[in-house]
Amino acid sequence: MRRLICLFGGTFDPVHYGHLKPLNELQQYLAADAVHVLPASVPPHRPAPLASSEQRQTMLQLALREYPGFILDSRELERSGPSWTVLTLQSFRQQYPDASLCLVMGSDAFDGLSSWYHWQQIPQLANIIVIERAGMKTAKRPEWATEHLVRDVDSLRESKSSSILFVSLKGHDISATEIRQRMAHKLDVTGMLPDKVIDYIRQNGIYQA
Ligand code: ATP
Repeated sequence: MRRLICLFGGTFDPVHYGHLKPLNELQQYLAADAVHVLPASVPPHRPAPLASSEQRQTMLQLALREYPGFILDSRELERSGPSWTVLTLQSFRQQYPDASLCLVMGSDAFDGLSSWYHWQQIPQLANIIVIERAGMKTAKRPEWATEHLVRDVDSLRESKSSSILFVSLKGHDISATEIRQRMAHKLDVTGMLPDKVIDYIRQNGIYQA
């Protein structure tokens, strides 16, 4: 059977349960063989993060103690220049020529995909899994995606790339923006992200107003 590998990139400024819980649910749903969490170095599609790369990496290390099944993958931090997803996928494809590589993203990220660098190459290199939040409006299905849609995990596992699966998971209404704002105003963020990460942010004065 083909190996199914999930790749979940983000700024993680900071990582929170809106990332971790759906990813955990997804890993179980797919019976994924591996889940790589990839912090972006210079995120190309958004403003620079407030926390440094080292701090974001440390926060992920602390958070992933609760999720030992996930692999912290720092290849985008180690590479110079913008963290173009296409380059990351090329490096995974070289490493795993026959795997079903699945790029995981929230529906907000998928909505903006056609503005990404060389985005048309992305489906040539990997499958795409779009996380929708249960009870929320479904994500848009752009016309280019129609012919790539698959409905079940078996079809996804059979294909090395180019399939798109929409998965509806329990929603966690948390964003890093809200956490940064709440922490800047010294408001409680308990339950939005792992306690160890909250302690680290406070100890290092990250996100202070
Ligand atoms: P910010 O608020 O700073 O924009 P964020 O919370 O959206 O950050 P990112 O690191 O930008 O976090 O997101 C990485 C990935 O996680 C993206 O694919 C995004 O769609 C997804 N994501 C973020 N928050 C959630 C959430 N609450 N539920 C499901 N997916 C999420």
